[in-house]
Amino acid sequence: MPTRSTPDSFEAGAFLPEHGTRRIAGTLRIDGGMVNFAGDDAFLAFPLEGVQVTMGGASDRLVFFAHTSFPKASIFTSDQAILSHPAFAQNPALVRARDRIRRRKLVSRCITFGILTLLVAAIAGVWLAKDPMVRAVARQVPVEWEQKLGDTAFTQVSLGRKLVTDAVVRKQFEQLAAPLLAAVPQDRYQFKLHLVEDASFNAFALPGGNVVFHTGLLLAADTPEEVLGVFAHEISHVTQQHGVRGIVQGLGLYAIVTTFFGDASGLAAILVDHAPFLLTQKFSRDHEREADEQGFRYLEAAKLNPRGIITFFEKLRREEAKLREKLPGGDALDALEFLSTHPATPERTARLEKLLARSPRKDGFTVVDLNFKEFQSALRAKLSQPDKAKKPDAKQAK
Ligand SMILES: [Zn+2]
Repeated sequence: MPTRSTPDSFEAGAFLPEHGTRRIAGTLRIDGGMVNFAGDDAFLAFPLEGVQVTMGGASDRLVFFAHTSFPKASIFTSDQAILSHPAFAQNPALVRARDRIRRRKLVSRCITFGILTLLVAAIAGVWLAKDPMVRAVARQVPVEWEQKLGDTAFTQVSLGRKLVTDAVVRKQFEQLAAPLLAAVPQDRYQFKLHLVEDASFNAFALPGGNVVFHTGLLLAADTPEEVLGVFAHEISHVTQQHGVRGIVQGLGLYAIVTTFFGDASGLAAILVDHAPFLLTQKFSRDHEREADEQGFRYLEAAKLNPRGIITFFEKLRREEAKLREKLPGGDALDALEFLSTHPATPERTARLEKLLARSPRKDGFTVVDLNFKEFQSALRAKLSQPDKAKKPDAKQAK
């Protein structure tokens, strides 16, 4: 029995009263004003006059033929090409049935498309909302946890390192930082400054407010604005919670969404586990950009010239070029640790230049009231190895 569809004959099935619920396979032909079904051991024919055509089966994929004169009998085919059979264009009842079926298919296609569109929009929405959600989750973290996390990490960093504790030097440094810190909202964080004796150009911040400067960076700067520019950038990593946000982001979308809609108490254990991770964490490019821009705003609010961070990046770039010339290979760039996490790309300085050009304060910045060279000499005098460039022994730049 051939069951393959041809333009005139369609692969079909039928239910016949004498065969109960058994489905009989066969072919369907429309000719001589009849819908004819021929199966292995069964034959059925409905007159086209009075035939009822409906859709049915799973996902409405089958076209059913029935007739009031043949109760409990039906013929069906999954080959929808049958709707294009000339009989469907000639008989008004079939034309109506065909149009009804096509309309119904169109509606169901629109619904499927609508659902898919909604689904895609929902996924895109969650994806777009990821960063705001991460931010909101980070905001739920009590500041005490952040401080504990940062203090734990700082204890690990400072192990075996020499801190500059001289009262005069520290007082001068605090005096330098005072106008900037006064412009930073202190409602959540209290900043703790640390000077680590290390010849590499580096500075980094930890969650909760510990900010660490290597003496190498302070001595390499030409102006107090350069130090303050780096400082404002590091403070911004703290206020924007980049450390905590980095950890939360790493948890994955599912955990972020459930923490966002649930409570953040489960985060405590996760954060504690991540304290060592903070020391090797590299901020994302987005977080660096955010810290550049927020730092710029803090400097602007403090009436400090943000050009300092630009000239500092340029200085790093020149130093890098010099070192690369002297020592091709790159290992010697350890001395420029800050550069490894803060690439001084032309794009970065260009963005800062643009902010500066647009700044309403433009050139109305105050001159820092501190003899910077004097501060540097006092600092240099307090170093345990003032003449020897100490090679940095760990990488924990932020
Ligand atoms: Zn940074």
